[in-house]
Amino acid sequence: MSKHDFDLFVIGGGSGGVRAARLAAQLGARVALAETLGPEGLGGTCVNLGCIPKKLYRYAADFSHAFDDARGFGWQGDKPSLNWAALKANRAQEINRLNAVYADLLRAAGVTLFDGFARLQGERGVALATLNADGSAGHRNFSAEHILIATGGTPHVPHFQGREHAITSNEIFDLEPFPQRLVVVGGGYIACEFASIFTGLGARVTQIYRGEQVLRGFDDELRHFAAAEWVKAGLDLRLNSGVVDIRRSADGLQVDLEGGGVLQADAVLYATGRRANVQGLGLELVGVAQGAQGEVLVDAHYQTNVPGIHAVGDVTQRVQLTPVALAEAMQVVQRLFGSAPQASAQAVGAMDYEGIPSAVFTHPALACVGLTEAAARERLGQIKVFRSEFKALKHTLSGRSERTLMKLVVDGASDRVVGLHMVGADAAEIVQGFAVAMKAGATKAMFDATIGIHPSAAEEFVTMRAALLR
Ligand code: NDP
Repeated sequence: MSKHDFDLFVIGGGSGGVRAARLAAQLGARVALAETLGPEGLGGTCVNLGCIPKKLYRYAADFSHAFDDARGFGWQGDKPSLNWAALKANRAQEINRLNAVYADLLRAAGVTLFDGFARLQGERGVALATLNADGSAGHRNFSAEHILIATGGTPHVPHFQGREHAITSNEIFDLEPFPQRLVVVGGGYIACEFASIFTGLGARVTQIYRGEQVLRGFDDELRHFAAAEWVKAGLDLRLNSGVVDIRRSADGLQVDLEGGGVLQADAVLYATGRRANVQGLGLELVGVAQGAQGEVLVDAHYQTNVPGIHAVGDVTQRVQLTPVALAEAMQVVQRLFGSAPQASAQAVGAMDYEGIPSAVFTHPALACVGLTEAAARERLGQIKVFRSEFKALKHTLSGRSERTLMKLVVDGASDRVVGLHMVGADAAEIVQGFAVAMKAGATKAMFDATIGIHPSAAEEFVTMRAALLR
């Protein structure tokens, strides 16, 4: 029997924390999990303020495009209008259901759930600040053989005049009233997704990005192609632009732009990156090393410089994606408490950060896995690029001018497909499957030997025959 209260104390009930707590408990460890929001707030950013509600709003926005497209297929009648309050309420109900599912899963696995703010204290200690039923503050101290920091991240808004008028992705889901005029600042996943979602929901959206093109780091050709499609769908995209200040005016918010432009808005969303949630955790008290932006530094085993203290997910600011946090959590549990039977194959070997697929849930969506053309050229030298651009069959009747772009990047020496990129409907669903083939080392010859599913967009990935001459 360990001399400690718990074998594992998890701080934070988001994707990484919940997965680690549940698996460790299933493997027989005595596990506690503390979440500031309590059991009702389990699920972290992904469930409460990120992936899930975002995707639900994405679906809502896509209906708007579908109603427009339906006319060409013979559907008649007035286009339905959005009941924003109903969307918000239905989303909230679904998120509450998910919170409860998470709590049930943890309890069923035998995890002790604490509703409070946990702070590192001394060696292998955790101090928990709670709120008692009578409103008074309570304090409890625990010891644990291992502590896992899984506190995630939070939106970061830079300092500027009028910053207090800006909202973040934390507030966008429950805005009241619906923002008819929305300004979005940033050019990453969150900015592009919300700019596209609110365009679809019927807002007039202006997206302000400081650089030459949004989605820095993605394949250049795809970035330009996707941005042009979003503009066609109604987005006002301003590149090489920035906000000087925001002030309240008689007509909502006045946004002054660099170079003298002015925008009137009902809301200004800043999606300019996220920072690790480390405030008040007591990292400096126990000497946990942090990076330049406060993130917890870990080694290849998610171990901090302090023995017994580990960290996974967004708080480490490595790859901020839910599936990555889940995989990291499984790695930690496997190392500390033995092999998890339900762990995926990914958790059996060392975590591979190469070839992580991802998608930007815009309309049309963008998804990719592997190297961009530029990165492949730099890393491999001789590469072959295959490209297909077309109007999807659906839009022959919908009348929409939207186009799809698919691209393969192939290593000239080994024939392996090292990059796969797509802008178009269902891009995330399509790319996920091809990511498995690429993980298995598929060559272009194997793609060529694969029979397509006809008619589909995905079949283009196995029917590209002529490499581009460049
Ligand atoms: P990102 O880091 O992806 O993008 C931040 C954006 O803000 C960049 O365009 C950046 O410009 C810009 N920016 C940064 N600082 C400033 C500033 N001071 N002034 C103006 N612009 C600025 O962060 P996000 O907030 O979009 O998302 C955070 C993370 O969440 C992502 O990295 C991703 O891992 C994850 N995520 C994933 C999703 C998915 O998988 N679909 C969805 C949503 C989030 P520049 O490029 O010039 O630096």
